[in-house]
Amino acid sequence: MALARPPILSLSSAELETWLGANDMPAYRRRQVWGWLARGAASFQEMHDVPKQLRTALERDFRITSLQPVAVSQADRALTTKTLFELEGGHSVEAVVMRYTDRSTLCISSQAGCPIGCPFCATGKFPFGRNLKAHEIVEQAVDTVRLLAVEDRRLSHVVFMGMGEPMANYQAVIESVRRFSNAELLGISPRRIVVSTSGLIPRIVQLAEEQLPVTLAISLHAARDELRDVLVPINRKYPVHDLVEAAQAYAAKTGRRVSYEWVLLADVNDTERDAKELGRLLRRKLAHVNLIPFNPVEDTPYRAPARAAIRRFKEMVEAQGLNVTVRDTRGREADAACGQLHERVMRSKVAVS
Ligand code: SF4
Repeated sequence: MALARPPILSLSSAELETWLGANDMPAYRRRQVWGWLARGAASFQEMHDVPKQLRTALERDFRITSLQPVAVSQADRALTTKTLFELEGGHSVEAVVMRYTDRSTLCISSQAGCPIGCPFCATGKFPFGRNLKAHEIVEQAVDTVRLLAVEDRRLSHVVFMGMGEPMANYQAVIESVRRFSNAELLGISPRRIVVSTSGLIPRIVQLAEEQLPVTLAISLHAARDELRDVLVPINRKYPVHDLVEAAQAYAAKTGRRVSYEWVLLADVNDTERDAKELGRLLRRKLAHVNLIPFNPVEDTPYRAPARAAIRRFKEMVEAQGLNVTVRDTRGREADAACGQLHERVMRSKVAVS
């Protein structure tokens, strides 16, 4: 059986230039092809300033993307779009684009499934599939650029907060960040890229050495080990005080404020005790707290807090002297908590294109 053509972005710039040389084409054509991908080209044939002979050779040897969209869900009057992509080999991942007046943000997946297994998370309920390759991460963005291009919008921000633990797929994530920020491809400043982690301390230390000033987000959710051991099981290996120390070393080295994410679970981590513990943990640190009202997930014992409880918790945390925001609840109708569209499709086995 003939092997499938590789996706064009699975080649590094040097590999693509070698291929161009072997096809009697100058190396600078690589920049032209990448430029078209960055502007949302859906086929090689529409790259009209690329010689026809080269377009035909590209089409013969490569595909535009390896991702296959298998389900799409919209919310917030079409300002939020969630796409479930099937990967080669059968696993699937989600990407969510959120449109705002001044920016478009893509929430991206780095793994099919997640090995961390947080009990409130839809992704964590499925068996872990596999790490994504760097080009599969980049293709989520390039496919989104294509979607946004028809609306005359640009992709401006990328957050690694979809399926998976980015730091458990470190090399591919770093390579994809370098491609996102490459001016010849997507040209998104690292400052507009957020890499989140549930707390893999050795990788945080490594990230600080990369000279990539991305924003680090810590999925904190609890400030005491006893509770965090349950909500974020990796805490048993990397306890919360050590984690905050590593995150603040990152802040000191990069000058970038760390974002601490806190999914608010009613009567679990929204009490006065939690607010005070959070205050003690982060006071006088280069830190920002992002409260995320829980998006209910089936078959979990957790509930979303009432609006008044969210407001009260925010005020209690502010009273501890911390910077706090409440993330908007974009995409509730779009199954926007990571893993929810995947879960719905798996349950119903209904695919829409
Ligand atoms: S919350 Fe994040 S780290 Fe935890 S299981 Fe879900 S995807 Fe993995």
